[in-house]
Amino acid sequence: MERTLSIVKPDGVKKNVIGEVIRRFEQKGLRVAGLRLIQLSTQDAKNFYIVHKERPFYESLTSFMSEGPIAVMVLEGDNAIATVRETMGATNFKDAAPGTIRADFATDIERNVVHGSDSVKSADYEIPFFFSSLDLH
Ligand code: UDP
Ligand code: MG
Repeated sequence: MERTLSIVKPDGVKKNVIGEVIRRFEQKGLRVAGLRLIQLSTQDAKNFYIVHKERPFYESLTSFMSEGPIAVMVLEGDNAIATVRETMGATNFKDAAPGTIRADFATDIERNVVHGSDSVKSADYEIPFFFSSLDLH
C-alpha cells in the first residue's frame, strides 16, 4: 500500500474536470484518502515546487498554480505513485499517451491539468505540505 499526492491544477478546475480526474484514479483501483479545494499564494506555490527553483519555468509555473483554486488529494493503493503518473501522461501533453488525462485535457506544457508525486521522496514532502495525519482516512 502506497500514498501519493495529486492536484487538479487551476486550469483543470476551470475546465470542470475535478470529477473526471478523480473518476479515472478510482477506476484504476486507487482510493481517495484526503481531499481539499484551496487557493495557494504565490509563495505557497514556490514552496511546493521548491525542487524546480532553478528551472526557467519556475516563476511562470508558480504564478499559474496560484491563479485560482486547486483540488488537492491523497490517493492510496498498490503502486499509487506509478499508477497516478501513468494515468496523468507525460508532462508535455504532446508526448502524452492517448487516453491519459493530459492527452485528453491539457492545452499547454505548463497548463497540463494535473500533478502527481514522482517518487516516495516527493510524496513524503508533498502529502504533509497539504494534509495533517488527522485529515487522512
Ligand atoms: N513545466 C513547464 N515547462 C516545462 C516543464 C514543466 O511549464 O518545460 C511545468 C508543468 O506544469 C509541469 C510542472 O512544471 O507539470 C512540473 O514539472 P515536472 O518536470 O515536475 O513535471 P510533472 O512531474 O508535473 O510531469
Ligand atoms: Mg514533477
